[in-house]
Parts: sequence; C-alpha cells; structure tokens
Amino acid sequence: MKLLKLKKVKLLVLTMMFMLIAGFTFTGSTSTQAKAKKVTYLGKYKLTAYCGCRSCSGGWGNRTASGKKAKAGRTIAVDKRKIKLGTKVKIKGKTYVAEDVGGGVKGKHIDIYFTSHKKVKKFGRKNNIKVYKIKK
Ligand SMILES: [Zn+2]
Repeated sequence: MKLLKLKKVKLLVLTMMFMLIAGFTFTGSTSTQAKAKKVTYLGKYKLTAYCGCRSCSGGWGNRTASGKKAKAGRTIAVDKRKIKLGTKVKIKGKTYVAEDVGGGVKGKHIDIYFTSHKKVKKFGRKNNIKVYKIKK
C-alpha cells in the first residue's frame, strides 16, 4: 500500500514535469513559428535616402505624410500603392515604418530618412535590396 502511494506521487510529479516541459517547448516553438510566419517577402527594392533639408523634402522638413515627425532609423517613404502607410518593413535586418511618401518614390523604391544630408549622400543609392513586410 505504501509502495503504491509512492508510485502514484512519482507518476504525478513526472506528469506535471512533463506538462511543464511540454508547455515550454510548445510555446517556444509556436513563437518562433509565428515569427517566421509574420514576415512577407515583398521583392527587391531600390533604396535611396532623404533628410529634412529643402532639396530632399522641398520644405516639408521632418514632417511626414502620416503626420508623424520623421525619425532616423524608423521612418521610410514609400509608394502607397506598394506599401501602405503604417506598415512595418524589414530591410537588412532592421525594422522601419512606412510613414512618408515622396514625389520621387514610385514602385519598388524606398526612401530612408536620415538626420543630415551628409548621411543621405553617404547612403547614396542601393539596388536590389530584399524587403520584407512584417505582419501585425
Ligand atoms: Zn537632404
């Protein structure tokens, strides 16, 4: 009788441990799966850069089409027919937000916001860069 009780307790502990481990691996695997699923490949884009200066923004400064203030490392200008405003976009492992549009930004072209024209010039133009959309 004593032995049976012990076995039952052992079994219970084992079951609980198993459930705990299973729970961990389950949530772990689903989160990585979800991460992988959240990204959609949009194609190869041409990248250029812009800043708030007159020659880049024509007096718009750092105001964006979305109404938000442009922020380096986050704001990008896109063609709304390709990427909707507010969309999170992944470029070279970095996450940007489509917050602006531009007269010269058409089709598979993304304009990345920088704080200075010096940085804009340094960035120049990059072709055939893989761009991904991050699903919300
Ligand atoms: Zn500029």
